Amino acid sequence: MAELNLPNAEQLTDSLHKLKNQQDAVTLDASPTSSSDQNQPEKDNEPQVSYPRTPHSRDGYGFRKSGVSTPLNVPESGSNHRRPEELVPDPNGLGWPAKSTVSRLNATPAERLDRERKMASAVRTILECIGEDPDREGLLRTPERYAQAIMWMTKGYEQRLADVINDAVFFEDHDEMVLVKEIDISSLCEHHLVPFTGKIAIAYIPNQLVLGLSKLARIAEAFSRRLQVQERLTKQIAIAVQEAIKPRGVAVVMEATHLCMTMRGVQKPGAITTTSCMLGCFRTHQKTREEFLTLIKGK
Ligand SMILES: [Zn+2]
Repeated sequence: MAELNLPNAEQLTDSLHKLKNQQDAVTLDASPTSSSDQNQPEKDNEPQVSYPRTPHSRDGYGFRKSGVSTPLNVPESGSNHRRPEELVPDPNGLGWPAKSTVSRLNATPAERLDRERKMASAVRTILECIGEDPDREGLLRTPERYAQAIMWMTKGYEQRLADVINDAVFFEDHDEMVLVKEIDISSLCEHHLVPFTGKIAIAYIPNQLVLGLSKLARIAEAFSRRLQVQERLTKQIAIAVQEAIKPRGVAVVMEATHLCMTMRGVQKPGAITTTSCMLGCFRTHQKTREEFLTLIKGK
């Protein structure tokens, strides 16, 4: 439901951004958005939303193309085990890249074609191994199709957070919770390479900077189009929002159904897995956390 409104929100902020560029004066006190019902971000019809953007609103912003980023914590010596939050920045501005993300990103068209051929031949092998005939009509182009599909379903690896957010960071003197919920998410379970799908709610309490509303969904999408486990996906989205606008706190809750559970009959069909990640004031302030949980429960 929130999503239906998101493109409008984006268009709105985009056009406002353009408008902003036309007039040079920055009027910080013109913020009619600071009304009491700001907790519901689905309010695109408000005529006078103002997001004045200061020249420095991206200061401290994490995922820069330049690679200038938040300091990378050095893992404890002797440990190869790095926690996800230690892996945010990388020199290419990618959040948590995989081993060969950079070579995938920089592949020439010929290399891409080669990659797809290699994958297609592997899929052909799978078809043979399950006892199918890869040469029967229905399956003839399945290997190529699958290769293209899996590249698409994992294209989040190639997305730089800076590009996803695309400057939609605005100065706003608003310190109430911003919440977008019911964001549809589809991802791939890294243990079985089958989908898990569900809904996600993302909230933050701004600290002078707000993010274009549609960008929360875009961030979630970028990380979901990778091989994931739900716990990590939830955490990465929260940390990415934290990185982008350094809010007072971020909360992410995801509810998903895993086909590897429901299709294989390991658990009851329809079993829902819930994960959450609370950062900053959502972690330290019980009241804030409760407000968020109440808001996401209300339909
Ligand atoms: Zn699985």
